[in-house]
Amino acid sequence: EGMPNGKTEDWVTKHWDIRHQLGSGNFSEVRLGVDVKDKGKQYAMKIVDKKKFLQFQKQRESVLNLRDEADMMSSLSHSNIVKCHSWFQTEANMYLALELVQGGDLLHCLLDGGAFPEHQASRLFHQICDAVRYLHVEKQLVHRDLKPENILLTSKDRETMLPKLADFGLARKNMKSRDCRTFCGTPHYFAPEVITTASSSDSKNAGYGKQVDMWSLGVILYILLSGIPPFEEEQLYRQILDGKYEFDVEEWNCVSPEAKQFVTSMMTVNPMERIDINQAVDHPWFKISRFCTPTRS
Ligand code: ADP
Ligand code: MG
Repeated sequence: EGMPNGKTEDWVTKHWDIRHQLGSGNFSEVRLGVDVKDKGKQYAMKIVDKKKFLQFQKQRESVLNLRDEADMMSSLSHSNIVKCHSWFQTEANMYLALELVQGGDLLHCLLDGGAFPEHQASRLFHQICDAVRYLHVEKQLVHRDLKPENILLTSKDRETMLPKLADFGLARKNMKSRDCRTFCGTPHYFAPEVITTASSSDSKNAGYGKQVDMWSLGVILYILLSGIPPFEEEQLYRQILDGKYEFDVEEWNCVSPEAKQFVTSMMTVNPMERIDINQAVDHPWFKISRFCTPTRS
């Protein structure tokens, strides 16, 4: 294929120190990757188990290629998107040397410290939206797997941390082709139309595109501001299809009406009525410069 291929695991351990684990996902593991031959430069080495990846693709009747993630990430250049420095493969694994992001992921940040106050959420979420705007508008790409564990943070300090979008394993060109309708992503962040499309064999169904990312962004903002997920585990799909989430809980008491309106405009069941990324980036909530301090009793 004209690509760096056929490395041995021996070659990998000679060139890379990959002993320290940073995280893991469905069919991959991410380790600290120290380039021992290049001044000990540090990366995040994403190691994709080829066999598991291919099995997963078969299950989902998907046509994603092993190289898509590396190719896609290498073509992106945005300060809030993880860069791919290089990649190679062995018989068993695909290796991606990614920009190392040191502050962990947003899921762990939320689990450790709970909800974000609005001024911090606003700064962080605006940058997340800008990265998605870059994907949707400039690159015609849909991420399809936006969720807190795929948003990395440059530091643990909530006042200064920068978000970086990661995990382009499911990202696609925004076309209305068949493979764009494969059932993928993670249930809690599924847009309603993802569920409907997957459960119907109706070929007139148009598939889905950028709007699924907008729904996921709504779910992310809901969690960011409240520290709780919008849907319960029980009857998850039913709740998503009905758009059955509420702000009438204690966690939302001190949050501005603009923020709630923003979440609602993204978590709109009908994808045609959902706001797009250009509208999101310009949402009035981002223009509020002073939020009232939450006083929880
Ligand atoms: P998967 O496709 O298997 O879900 P991800 O790309 O989401 O794999 O990576 C899994 C986890 O590894 C992430 O949730 C994060 O905790 C960690 N991780 C991934 N990329 C990086 C990186 N560039 N820097 C630091 N940690 C990372
Ligand atoms: Mg992931």
